[in-house]
Amino acid sequence: MNGLASEPILEISGLSVDYGFGPDAVHAVDNASLTLRRGEVLGLAGESGSGKSTLAYAVTRLLREPGVITAGSALFHGRDGAQDLFDLDAEQIRELRWSQISVVFQSAMNSLNPVFTIGVQLTDVLRAHSKELGRRERRQRAAELLDMVGITEDRLRSYPHELSGGMRQRVMIAMALALEPRVLIMDEPTTALDVVTQREILQELGELRERLGFAVLFITHDLSLLVELADTIAVMYAGRIVEHAPAETLFRNPRHPYTEGLLGSFPGLHGERTTMTGIPGSPPDLRNLPSGCPFHPRCGYAMDACETQAPALLPISWEPAEPRSASCLLHTDGHQAPESLMRAPKIGSTL
Ligand code: SF4
Repeated sequence: MNGLASEPILEISGLSVDYGFGPDAVHAVDNASLTLRRGEVLGLAGESGSGKSTLAYAVTRLLREPGVITAGSALFHGRDGAQDLFDLDAEQIRELRWSQISVVFQSAMNSLNPVFTIGVQLTDVLRAHSKELGRRERRQRAAELLDMVGITEDRLRSYPHELSGGMRQRVMIAMALALEPRVLIMDEPTTALDVVTQREILQELGELRERLGFAVLFITHDLSLLVELADTIAVMYAGRIVEHAPAETLFRNPRHPYTEGLLGSFPGLHGERTTMTGIPGSPPDLRNLPSGCPFHPRCGYAMDACETQAPALLPISWEPAEPRSASCLLHTDGHQAPESLMRAPKIGSTL
């Protein structure tokens, strides 16, 4: 873990987000709490529709109607002290975005304006937030930013369509880091890219993080991506955080059956050949969640109690030396977790 990771920089507490109102409301995020620490990479993983992107949109106040934050807080420890992002007005949050909290989304092509060159778009960000910089200084800074992500200065004159997908995503990362934010939120930033480009970008991101010290909330459906990147990982299912642990520990020894299923859904890159087990069934319809534990229809360990009791996310008491939590009845009093959720390493693990 990066040595900077200790003090919290972003504390999300009891966050709930609905789409719509009343009895038809879809509970996309339900009572989620997460702490991102300085210089840390916190991975947020889960299948499509698990609520991870909604959580990011809510925290950055980019949620569109009919999305509504129904509960919780997001305490940001920025340059001006601690502020609840949900208490800020539109102007205050606009000031904070880019300068202290930046966001990179999946489709760089949609985020970049197709009718302006890369240089214009980079210098626009600098003009809006660094008013002390003159024209020449802005251009020089834009060139430095491109260089930082491995793109040559001459590309300042290029339009987005003249760049490859990987280059466009690098430009978005450069833009997001232009004002040296403390937090970078990345939502599936490399999903549309080939695996080689994906790996290169993640390597660059790791180096930039080491150098600049920002913290990252990295959202992905691909848990395997977080193996080398993340310090800690939270896994979401049906709008809830179901497991939270240090990354290596979670990979070696998942405690929630859903995490185990996700890890069994991708092939190991090293070591013995293993069988991919996957997860049966599909993610639940959030308008009509199963009773009890929402994972029970897909869980190979489900007991009768799972159909009626909704497990809370609780610290795993028999692992006090390593703070981690899971929401599964198997780890509560009166139940014995099966051997398969206690062993290491897990199926499909690349460690
Ligand atoms: Fe499976 Fe039951 Fe644990 Fe839910 S509570 S994950 S259904 S064992």
